[in-house]
Amino acid sequence: MERKVAIVGAGISGLLACKYTLSRGYIPIVFEAESVLGGVWAKTTETTRVQSKKTIYQFSDFPWPDCVTNDHPTSKETINYLHSYALDFDVLRHIKFNCKVLSMTYEGASEDEMHAWSLWGGTGEPFNSRGKWNVVVQDTKSLSIEDYQFDFVILCVGRFSGIPNMPEFPQGKGPEVFKGQVIHSMDYSKMDDAEAAALVKGKRIAVVGLRKSAMDIALECANANGAQPHILTGLKLSSLCIPSTTVFLNEFNTFTVAATINKMCMLTIEQCILRRTLSG
Ligand SMILES: Cc1cc2nc3c(=O)[nH]c(=O)nc-3n(C[C@H](O)[C@H](O)[C@H](O)COP(=O)(O)OP(=O)(O)OC[C@H]3O[C@@H](n4cnc5c(N)ncnc54)[C@H](O)[C@@H]3O)c2cc1C
Repeated sequence: MERKVAIVGAGISGLLACKYTLSRGYIPIVFEAESVLGGVWAKTTETTRVQSKKTIYQFSDFPWPDCVTNDHPTSKETINYLHSYALDFDVLRHIKFNCKVLSMTYEGASEDEMHAWSLWGGTGEPFNSRGKWNVVVQDTKSLSIEDYQFDFVILCVGRFSGIPNMPEFPQGKGPEVFKGQVIHSMDYSKMDDAEAAALVKGKRIAVVGLRKSAMDIALECANANGAQPHILTGLKLSSLCIPSTTVFLNEFNTFTVAATINKMCMLTIEQCILRRTLSG
């Protein structure tokens, strides 16, 4: 019997889910709101690289190609790698690009009945002969809406794509009182490389946060401004949370952060970026 599976998102998780549903003989459709695959890797800053070592950031059945020699592949190499994976496992032709899932409802059991289930799907089986998922999908170009029915749905929508996470500020203390431009890292990453470099060139910039995107953007600011001493790239830290023990700055400049995160370590990062800013 034909089993139809909806997969929402064509990032790494969606590609993987599609490959496995195909290998089980199911019929997948991957809905991707954007026009390209790769999820977060489709829109990164120019200098963004994989911060994990490539040996631990790869599909177990699809190693990085030999032409990727750096331990931390660039975002372009990553996108090419994901593209090759999608082609190799015949995933690409199952992706519907520019298709945003607006809603999903389960038909076949009432809310009360579902709440009473002790087993997944009522029976412990992923496929239930009674139930269907109604999935409403919008074409993001034409804005037309289409309804689909599926036996199973896999959500692969990620944690870092979509709506920028902007903190709420008290009245009169937010971006509206700042005289300069305020931009979220997600919007910065969406710009093309030349446009992004032009935006930060010759400006005093504060990068708020200290995780992967903040570090990448601080480096972009330093790269765009070369040796001009009046440029200051700063980091304001609301949480002292560093993603891994190694902070990757660029291919020539990697340094290890002490296991105990303290103010000294923040200064080290600032100094490192400043040093790069001033020395070009
Ligand atoms: C800059 C950056 C660098 C990173 N580096 C590393 C690293 O080095 N190591 C590591 O382990 N992790 C890293 N990560 C984490 C990264 O998020 C994961 O490794 C992985 O790429 C996530 O893939 P995903 O498919 O789960 O989600 P995403 O890549 O977020 O993909 C989700 C997809 O779902 C689509 N989508 C969302 N909602 C809908 C909808 N309603 N309808 C249709 N489509 C929808 C989105 O358009 C998107 O394409 C990094 C993340 C970022 C942002």
